[in-house]
Amino acid sequence: MSPPEEPATEPAAEPVDVATNLADVLAAIAAAAVAAGRAPEDAALVAVSKTQPAEAILLAIQAGQRRFGENRVQEAQSKWPALKAGHEDLRLHLIGPLQTNKVRDAVALFDVIETVDRPKLARALAREMEKQGRRLDCFIQVNTGEEAQKAGVWPDAVDDFVALVRDELGLSVRGLMCIPPVDEECSLHFALLREIARRNGLHELSMGMSADYEVAIQFGATLVRVGTAIFGARRLYP
Ligand SMILES: *Cc1c(COP(=O)(O)O)cnc(C)c1O
Repeated sequence: MSPPEEPATEPAAEPVDVATNLADVLAAIAAAAVAAGRAPEDAALVAVSKTQPAEAILLAIQAGQRRFGENRVQEAQSKWPALKAGHEDLRLHLIGPLQTNKVRDAVALFDVIETVDRPKLARALAREMEKQGRRLDCFIQVNTGEEAQKAGVWPDAVDDFVALVRDELGLSVRGLMCIPPVDEECSLHFALLREIARRNGLHELSMGMSADYEVAIQFGATLVRVGTAIFGARRLYP
C-alpha cells in the first residue's frame, strides 16, 4: 500500500501584522543605536520585501516606510512600478546579485544598488547610468567570509576594487555591504566590514538582517536589511 499523498497546496500563511512589526523593528533600531552611543536615526531600515505580495508591501508604505529591498530584478519589476507610481519618495534597493544582462532594467527601476562586486558589472552600471542619466547610489558587496558560493569581493581585493569603481569609473560609492556566513559569529564580520570601509574613506555600512540587526548597529551599521521580522515568513517565489 502506498503512503497517503501530501496535499499539494501551499501551507496557509500565518496572519502577520505588518504595521505593528514595522513599529517594533523601528523602535528596536533606535534603541540599539542609542545603546551604542549613536543618534536614534543613525541607522536606517531597508524593509526587505522579496517574495511578499504588493498588498503586504502597501501596508508598510501606509505605515510610513519608504526604503525597501528586493533581491531579484524581474520580481521587483512586476511589483514596484505600480507601487512607486503613487509614492515618489520611495527608495528601492537591489540587495541580490545582478547579472549584466539585467543592468538596464535595474538602473531604470532601482535607486540604490547594494551588490556591486565585479569589474564587468561596475563598467556596465557606469555605462548604463550615463545613458539613462540616472546616478544611483552604490554599495560594494564584500564576501567577508570568503565563501566560494557567495557573491562579493574578497576582503583583500576591496581596496583595489573601490579605486576602480569610485575613482576610475566615477560611480557614487556610498559604502560597503555584507552577508555574514550563517554559522559564524556575525560581529567578527561586521567589525571587518567597518574596518575595510574606514580605510577606504567610506561612511555607509549595510549589514544586519532580522536575526542580527541590533548587533550590526552596535558595530556601526547605517543601513539594516530586515525582511521576516516585518513581513513574516517568506512566501514561495512567484
Ligand atoms: C532576504 C535578505 C535579507 C533579509 O533577511 P531576513 O532574515 O528576512 O531579515 C537581508 N539581506 C539580503 C541580502 C537578503 O537577501
